[in-house]
Amino acid sequence: MTGNPRLIRIDPHDNVAVVATDGGLAAGQEIDGLVLTENVPQGHKVALTTLEKGEPVVRYGVVIGHAARPIPAGSWINEANLNMPPPPVLSELAPPLGTETDITPLEGYTFQGYRNRDGSVGTRNILAITNTVQCVSGVVGHAVDRIRREMLPRFANVDDVVALDHTYGCGVAIEAPGAAIPVRTLHNIARNPNFAGSTMVVSLGCEKLQPARLFPEIFQAPAAPGSRDGGAASLVTLQDETHVGFEAMISSILQSAEQHLTTLNTRQRETCPASDLVVGLQCGGSDAFSGVTANPALGIAADLIVRAGGTVMFSEVTEVRDGIDRLVARAATPAIARDLIREMAWYDDYLEMGLTDRSANTSPGNKKGGLSNIVEKAMGSISKSGSMPISGVVPAGERATKNGLLFAATPASDFICGTLQLAAGMNVHVFTTGRGTPYGLSEVPVIKIVTRTDLARRWHDLVDIDAGRIISAGDTLESMGMEIFKKILAVAGGEKTSAERLGLCNQLALFNPGPVT
Ligand code: CA
Repeated sequence: MTGNPRLIRIDPHDNVAVVATDGGLAAGQEIDGLVLTENVPQGHKVALTTLEKGEPVVRYGVVIGHAARPIPAGSWINEANLNMPPPPVLSELAPPLGTETDITPLEGYTFQGYRNRDGSVGTRNILAITNTVQCVSGVVGHAVDRIRREMLPRFANVDDVVALDHTYGCGVAIEAPGAAIPVRTLHNIARNPNFAGSTMVVSLGCEKLQPARLFPEIFQAPAAPGSRDGGAASLVTLQDETHVGFEAMISSILQSAEQHLTTLNTRQRETCPASDLVVGLQCGGSDAFSGVTANPALGIAADLIVRAGGTVMFSEVTEVRDGIDRLVARAATPAIARDLIREMAWYDDYLEMGLTDRSANTSPGNKKGGLSNIVEKAMGSISKSGSMPISGVVPAGERATKNGLLFAATPASDFICGTLQLAAGMNVHVFTTGRGTPYGLSEVPVIKIVTRTDLARRWHDLVDIDAGRIISAGDTLESMGMEIFKKILAVAGGEKTSAERLGLCNQLALFNPGPVT
């Protein structure tokens, strides 16, 4: 882009445009009939007309704020001269439009996946060890190192062994209503399609989150342990009296792992239709190009997955709150609209209890990248949901039970959103970023898409797709959307992502709105 100054306007109603030029534009620069009155960094907004104090500032065809003072044409618009509007009032939202969307079925796309007994399909073959409480984490971590070194080489079909480590399990008010979310999250993560219904549990013994509370269908059942999904189930309790010393505990865990690995090693990839995809979408470290390149291209990929009969989840309540009117309009039924509004209202109350609101979402990096406030960020974030009707809402920690485009209610925090989408059953994660983050997960492959070619160049081995080519190389949103869709199928079939090649993974982070003791 250098040497080729360019402003990008998204909607004909917009009275601002975003500087696309690498390095930004300097004061005095003439562009599109404007003369810049000051230096404007890349990604930041320029006033296309003179705005009086209080006049709406429009981007994406949406009012993202009001001029805090008179703003001459050619000026830089940022959080210092932009007042944020209130969010849509939930009780005043219009009902769903019920318009017919063109959902032409998309056929013929497949991937090589691991079919499970419950019908779900894994994209990786992983032994997951569920910890019921953080107390066991050091012991399990030691065991995982030994399993990787000493046992995995004998089980060529198993990709990895992963401890489902977390800070929950004791020291919490386990009967409080808020506890239901972390408990069901842990339960449902263990049922992620990549683990084949195989439930290997390590417990301390005295913790509040007893195995029978976490997996009642397995450990309260009178018959021998066998998980509800038909996979093997096992339990090692560190406080068991038969354990004399540390090595005895490790030996129990290794014996249990041997049984699970033997079963997992028999799994074979088979041809599965694209309708078996369960793709979790989120963004992190967003910038002003997130809503221009990566997210709208991902939205087109999302449409293709839905048309192929698959499942797509978008999330991040604080990043959709300001566009909830648009989402409610897309709800497939009035009941789904009510579910969306219920999740927004719950989160409004949750934030209010903490004496804050959705505006706490934006980070210093977002602002540096040109996103002045949460309204502007939300409009870019929502575009990754594409254009299909919203066919369901998944409350935090619950498992998705239907196909189509779903809203999985999660915080926007990258780690917590990823953790909750794991619980919802995603088998591929797609993550867009503008500022750059090395985010990855051990449990499912994470495809990272960047918004700018400059970042793709610098982070060439850390990311997977450069959606910045929409600006830098003239790629269309449609061709980029198809490229993303095909990448998802390839990765689902075993192609390694950059994060997998480098072994980068983040910790699970549970959403716990309940009190600790
Ligand atoms: Ca996020």
